[in-house]
Formats: sequence, C-alpha cells, structure tokens
Amino acid sequence: MRSLLRGRLLGRFVLVVGVACVSGCSDSANGGSEGGGPVCDPPQFEVTVDAENVIPAPDGYTDLGGGVREIHRGVYMVPGFSNTFLVTTEEGSVVIDTSISLTAAAHEQALRPYVVEPLRYIILTHAHADHVGGVALWRGDDPGVEVLAQREQVDFLHYERRFDGVFRYRNSAQFSRLLNLPPLPFNAPDAPVVNDGGQPPATILFEEFFEFRLGDLTFQVVHTPGETPDHASVWIPELRMAFPGDNYYISFPNLYTLRGTEPRKALEYIASLDEVTSWKPAVVAPSHGDPVYGEAHARDRLTAYRDAISYVHDETVRGINAGIDIFTLMQEITLPPALQSPDTNEVYGRIDWSVRGIYDGYIGWFDGNVSNVTATPPTAIYADLVEMAGGADAVAERASELSDAGDHARALHMTDVALAAEPANTIALEARAASLEALLDVAENSNMQGWLFAALREVEAKLAEQ
Ligand SMILES: [Zn+2]
Repeated sequence: MRSLLRGRLLGRFVLVVGVACVSGCSDSANGGSEGGGPVCDPPQFEVTVDAENVIPAPDGYTDLGGGVREIHRGVYMVPGFSNTFLVTTEEGSVVIDTSISLTAAAHEQALRPYVVEPLRYIILTHAHADHVGGVALWRGDDPGVEVLAQREQVDFLHYERRFDGVFRYRNSAQFSRLLNLPPLPFNAPDAPVVNDGGQPPATILFEEFFEFRLGDLTFQVVHTPGETPDHASVWIPELRMAFPGDNYYISFPNLYTLRGTEPRKALEYIASLDEVTSWKPAVVAPSHGDPVYGEAHARDRLTAYRDAISYVHDETVRGINAGIDIFTLMQEITLPPALQSPDTNEVYGRIDWSVRGIYDGYIGWFDGNVSNVTATPPTAIYADLVEMAGGADAVAERASELSDAGDHARALHMTDVALAAEPANTIALEARAASLEALLDVAENSNMQGWLFAALREVEAKLAEQ
C-alpha cells in the first residue's frame, strides 16, 4: 500500500511518495529485551524479477561515436568522471544521473540527438555533485520533466550546504589533480550557520519505492542507501538492467571519504547490493565505469564486491571488540586473496580509510586513551620535544633522513613536529616536499593523489616565499 501526500518544501511544491509500513513498529512479545527489540515490518514494495516481455540483453555496448555508447536497446550512455544515461521508449525518454557541472553540458549535447521526445523523468541516484550537475540543462523550463529522488535527498543537501565552507575547500583539494582544480584558500566563513539551505532539484520525492511505466518499459526505483543516505537504484525488468548508482564501481568503495562525510554504513551497502543482486540483472550499469554484462557475471561481481565490504566490516568490528587500536587495525586489515579482484582495488576507496570510517562511525572519536580526553592535543608538547632534540633544524634533518630512506609517513610526521616549532623551517619544508612528491609518484588512489598534490602545492608556495 502506498500513501500519497503533498508537502511544501522550500517554497516549492513537491510530490512526496511514500510506502506505508503495514502495521508500523511494535514491541515484541518479550518486551524488547534479550534480543527482542521493537519489530517493524520491512518496507512493502514489489520489484519485478521475472518480467513478461524480456528484451534480450546484448553482450556489450556499441560505440556510436561522439562519446555516446548504446549499452542496451535504446539505452545510451556518455562515460565520464561520472556517467549520464538516457533510456528511450516510443512514448518518451528518461535520464538517469546527469554528471558533474564541468562535463554535464557536453554529456547533454552528445545525448540530446538520441532523445525520444518528450523527456519525462530525470532520475537521480543520489545528490552528490557529480550526479546532479546537469539537471537544469536537461530540464530547461519544461515543467513536464519530473525530477525523481529519494526523500533523504532533502536532509542530505541541507547537510552539504551546512558545511559548504569546509566542503568547498576539501573538494578542491581532493579533486585537484583529477579535475585540475585551482587551489582554494581556506576561508573561515564569517556568516551565520545555515542549517537548511540545500536546494533539492527533485520535483518528486519517494520513500522506499517508486514505479512508473513509459512505453514498453517499467522503471522501478528503490531506496538503496550506501554511498549516501538518499541513494537509489533503478531497475528496468524488461531490459533486465540495473543502475546501482555509486553503490558499485570498479574500486573498493569510499566507505570514508577524506573530504568529509557522515558515516557511510557498511551494512547498508551490503543490504543494498543484496537488493540489486536479487533482481538478477543481465546488465549492471554503474554511474562510474563501464557496464557489466551477463547475469552470472553480474551476480558474481556484485557478490564479490559485497563480500569484500562485509569482510572489512566484520574484521573491524572484531578488532574494536578486541580492544585493538585504530592504527593497528588500519595496518592489519587487508582482503584475503579470495576477495581480491579488479572491483576491489583501491583506486578510489581505500580499505585502511574505510576501517577508520567504520571504527569512528560505530564508536566515535575516543580511542580509550585518557590522555586524549582533554582539549590539549599531543601537538602541545611538540615545541618542548624540538627544544630537547636540539632545535627545529635537528628535527628537520631527521625528517630528511627518513624521507631519503623512503619512510615517508614518518618523515611527514617529523616535519609536523619541526614546523610546529618553526613554521618556515626550510629543511623541514624541503623534506616535506620530497616525501609528498615521492608518495605522489607511486600513489594509485585518485583521492590520495588529490590530497598529496594539494599539500605539495601548499609547501611549494611556502618555499617560494623564502
Ligand atoms: Zn559519483
């Protein structure tokens, strides 16, 4: 049963489509103790696994030129930093994700000739900037184009807007190399806190499930939290085609992103991947990277991905319960060979960052060491240590030795100590630059490359002032 209600949001009317929980939540018979807990019926919706009129899936995509690929019958994709998809039927078209603003116009222009008018829906798998950048371009002034998103998109965009000051700077650092972004100064905003300033582009918000039919295709959009709380996946049963958004791509997922995020819950990723796998897709088209073809192949890839997340989650939980410190867990938790695959390489997400994200997401900032419960940080004793070591130059020389020996992580820490005592110490800055360059040379993770590149630019700017 679905309930419909109209809600007013930010001065605009949006249609909020929800799913009624049939009997709601209630206490269990044993009063909710000893594992009894409140019981809530799962969301009620029906995903079509066996469609009546199945259109055979191809073995791969056809390159149409101009950056456009036909990835299934009447389904087009422009690959990019993030992909844009166009699904056509004889009664109109649907866009799934719209890429980032830097590339959205090129994607829209490349795909526009393939649109079967009218364009009816833009489905957003989630509200990250690399998926919503082209909504206005596609929609124009046409009120007939509905923009569909999961209801959590509203709070998620408020959250992103609330922290615009820090995210603006951190995004430019993280993607500095990948997108060739200019450095941004870190300005502390002298402005009031804006708690609800997000501007959701959606005209329809749904709770757990939204379905519509266009031409000979059924579009089923399911809330699948993971990468973000508002994340949704799209299923077209007649094409046996799933669009899992960012919950699956060819890298271990970014369970924690260095630009800052609320916890991305591993168990939600797992449940969402299980949901998509249960549809038995013959084509899986993620919003980053190439589509995967073949039902068995897609099932195996999604399952391996999900199992890798599950392993890292469970090992982290095991370590937390064993009282093992976070840095040891970051060093020791790696995927066993059976779970290593091209899908779980670490070119985007990293396992050690994910371990820390899971740790912090579950039990928060306190590491169990009572020295860390006050507002006095370990750095407060750096100046004393530098003096005892014979001055900033002596510490900086040690940083240079570590850097020369290839021990770059410790070299960077050592430069932190020297620079805390003497911020313009040339030896320390040069050692820092050398280690950052060396790490950048071998870094395969694109987020790590961005932060190393941004840090290197910062150090080089300080050296240039001397
Ligand atoms: Zn993305």
